[in-house]
Amino acid sequence: MNDNTNFLKDRIKYDVENGIVKEVVTRFPPEPNAYLHIGHARALVTDFEMAMMYNGKTNLRFDDTNPAKEDAEFVDAIIKDIEWLGFHPANIFYGSDYFEQTYQLAIKLIKKGLAYVCDLSPEETAKYRGDFNTPGTPSPYRNRSVEENLQLFENMKNGMYKEGEKTLRAKIDMASPNINMRDPVFYRILYIKHHRQGDKWCIYPMYDFAHPIQDAIEGITHSLCSLEYDNHRPLYDWVIENCEMEHTPKQIEFGRLNITNTIMSKRYLRALVDSKKVTGYDDPRMPTLVGLRRRGYTADAIKKFIRDAGLSRTNITVDSSGLEACIREDLKLKTMRIMAVKDPLKVTITNYPEGQIEYVEAENNAEVLEMGTRKIAFSRDLYIEREDFLLEKPNKHFKRLALGLEVRLMHAYFIKANEVRYDDAGNIVEVLCTYDPATKSGSGFNERKPNGNIGFVEAHTGRRANFNIFEALITDDDATKDITERVNPNSWKVMEGFVENAKPHFENEEKFQFIRDGYYAVDKTSTDEKLVFNCIVPLKSSVK
Ligand code: ATP
Ligand code: MG
Repeated sequence: MNDNTNFLKDRIKYDVENGIVKEVVTRFPPEPNAYLHIGHARALVTDFEMAMMYNGKTNLRFDDTNPAKEDAEFVDAIIKDIEWLGFHPANIFYGSDYFEQTYQLAIKLIKKGLAYVCDLSPEETAKYRGDFNTPGTPSPYRNRSVEENLQLFENMKNGMYKEGEKTLRAKIDMASPNINMRDPVFYRILYIKHHRQGDKWCIYPMYDFAHPIQDAIEGITHSLCSLEYDNHRPLYDWVIENCEMEHTPKQIEFGRLNITNTIMSKRYLRALVDSKKVTGYDDPRMPTLVGLRRRGYTADAIKKFIRDAGLSRTNITVDSSGLEACIREDLKLKTMRIMAVKDPLKVTITNYPEGQIEYVEAENNAEVLEMGTRKIAFSRDLYIEREDFLLEKPNKHFKRLALGLEVRLMHAYFIKANEVRYDDAGNIVEVLCTYDPATKSGSGFNERKPNGNIGFVEAHTGRRANFNIFEALITDDDATKDITERVNPNSWKVMEGFVENAKPHFENEEKFQFIRDGYYAVDKTSTDEKLVFNCIVPLKSSVK
């Protein structure tokens, strides 16, 4: 395991062992403006597991201080996803619940001469701020009196100005090499209804002001966040210090997780949903937790993948095959191994009595005998996969059925292909075979070797099924194009076929290994009449 988490563990351990903190308290602060994706799982694993390691606790706090785009639908979905991953927040809080306290702290800063109301427009504010090479220019409003600032700020709160007309800014250092310290905006005017506060407020605090205050109010000890906040840390500390907060949380950054072939920006995921290029946030091709779950990924596999990827102070990109390996490993000894036939070809066993069905016994998972056995139907009418039959054996590597050849039908008998039938268009529609009763699986028959083992489904008992087969959602890496134009047209293919009647009812999200094929999960659109399976991941090609 690639574990670089020590930079974080050591830091927390030091604080605990030296009595700097009594109880480790972390928080996960999602903005409720989209569904969680697998990148968030990294932050979740870090926030929850670091606290658990020291018997601490973790709050879920919705960072809902920006009313634009936030929605109760996302709040509920995020809570559900976190529980599904197996994490239990000690508390669920909302940043917006602290609006009154945040407002009072802004007044405190004004009174201390550390904040002022500024009339520069957003464009002018950006221009005055300068850049890496140019020091900022002080705002002409920087030296307003405390009394005037108090009055203007109150007017802002009372809705006396238009959006963009005024802001409240911290008075720090316009020449600071850290641009975040050049009198950052702490409050802006927005006439937008808030999902919890309604129309109560028309001034909203910026993240850089609200976040440290929220952390301090909740008694967060270690505020873990991704690396892009690195140069916001001095501002974080400035707010804690100058607001004279009782608790002094510490911000610690970690690298973001990127995955090859996986788009993880919320903005892009949202664009795909809004443009209907995917069926929703839970489209099985989406890297959202709901999408991965619907596809058939388990919480354990996702967490293992995240832990294996390790945690460091740099952003990392890991190969998506790692996640596939984790789900194979997780499902290998947990799933029934059953037979399914995609793109079916009819096989008739001409020397088997019409109207008769027999059942052969098979282990549900040959590696886990405790999983028991089941009965597999066999009769004169069967289906095999079209790709398991060719008229002629093309080369010695072809271990399937061809005219004149014999193969073993898994768990059943040897069959030999004698003749084919065609439709009017010249397609093969049926293979006429004979079986050898002496070759029954388990009978110890060893006089001949078959030309391979293939799967089958008995035609009268087999269940009709659709199989959703996926490829990467985005393969076009031309980032100049709109994301909605980059969707891989082959990313979701539907195949029809049959699956053996292994159970009377296939539960939503239930997972199986289809022998010689891959791992599949029952999709939410599945019904008992027409089963629907999502291919989670193929078996490794060497096992096929
Ligand atoms: P955006 O910047 O698109 O609005 P975000 O990814 O910052 O979104 P939040 O809802 O603010 O979304 O995320 C909650 C937490 O998850 C943040 O602390 C963020 O750092 C973390 N996070 C999000 N994506 C990743 C990632 N790919 N790797 C690690 N942490 C992540
Ligand atoms: Mg964010």
